[in-house]
Amino acid sequence: MPKTIFHIDANSAFLSWSAVEKRKQNPDLDLRLIPSAVGGQVHSRKGIVLAASLPAKACGVRTGEPLYLALRKCPNLHIEPPDFHIYEKYSKQMYALCNRFSPDLMKFSIDELFLNYTGLERFWGSPMKGAERIRDTIYKELGFTVNIGISTNNLLAKTASDFEKPNKIHTLYPSELAQKYWPLPIDRMFMVGKSTCARLKKLGIYTIGQLSKTDLSILRYHFKTFGLQLYQYANGISTDDFKPIEVPKSIGCGITTPQDVTTLSEILRVAMALTQKAVHSLRSQKLTCQSVEVSLKRTDFISFSHRCKGDTPLDDFKSIFALVKQAIEEMWANQPLRALSVRLCNIEIDAIMQYTFFGSAKAEQNRALQTAMDQIRAKYGYESITIASILNNPLCNHVTKTQPLDISSQL
Ligand SMILES: [Mg+2]
Repeated sequence: MPKTIFHIDANSAFLSWSAVEKRKQNPDLDLRLIPSAVGGQVHSRKGIVLAASLPAKACGVRTGEPLYLALRKCPNLHIEPPDFHIYEKYSKQMYALCNRFSPDLMKFSIDELFLNYTGLERFWGSPMKGAERIRDTIYKELGFTVNIGISTNNLLAKTASDFEKPNKIHTLYPSELAQKYWPLPIDRMFMVGKSTCARLKKLGIYTIGQLSKTDLSILRYHFKTFGLQLYQYANGISTDDFKPIEVPKSIGCGITTPQDVTTLSEILRVAMALTQKAVHSLRSQKLTCQSVEVSLKRTDFISFSHRCKGDTPLDDFKSIFALVKQAIEEMWANQPLRALSVRLCNIEIDAIMQYTFFGSAKAEQNRALQTAMDQIRAKYGYESITIASILNNPLCNHVTKTQPLDISSQL
């Protein structure tokens, strides 16, 4: 029996969640109805637009553009600073509300989730009726609108929820592919980013329909294993690869050192190498962590561990290492060590973009540096770049060369 899957996506989540929260203090002010944007660092006018209201969009304000540019287009733009705690609260409320309708949910990002509606018709009616009920309940109880896409798998449900917005329900059943899916330009397909899009266009493939009819061997030749996935997605087939919510519980990296480590500076250097490796894995999976756990094993084989938590989700080495350093300094009592491990915890999957602009100018610098390092590593390999203070340190080389990452069991 085919499944029935809903993809539920809050419309302009950051803006509408901020608006709902603001209205609690001032019922006359609805950020959704005035030119407004959520964006970082209002005072310095740095940062970018994370979300914009419809009136702001009507002035030409676009998500992702620098705030100063948005202000030039729309001088009376109300800028609301992002507040991660509010978003987390509404995200959880949306999840809990949907959970009343189906026990089988999958969080996809802070404002999107999949709901398995298979077999629930007898409780809530047809899929369309059920979706309307969920949409209306979210609006009534939580105060914001959502789009819902309905189909037989995650891929098509997610594609459907992206059709006309806001506050809309769309279906994209396999029987509707020719009418609703295949005419779409290729960059509307899930997983097709800028570079894939450019490569497909070079092959003369401009629409999802054209891709769906391309010979698989041609796609395999140009895109290797990704070619099969492109072909399947274009044909509306979502295999088990589509597992956006599988987030590791933690990402860890540890070593037993070839000799005892006795000084704080040496411990920190090894921890730096371990953190660097774990962060690399975190970033390559586009995940964030909010806490770290450091475990130390003394030469008498007794182990200690200690956890430190940050205020917001993190994905850059510098901020994460600051937590690691804090954990070590709070825990280490001058005993020589023989093993050390660093584990990144409270892992979340999200569009990293969503968290990118919460920080200060300094944080933005860190991110730019981190992105540059990612790019160099992607091109020349993990060992092509590292932090100067651990360069040529034999213990740290040991981490880089031999220690595989340990990704713990899936949630
Ligand atoms: Mg959304």
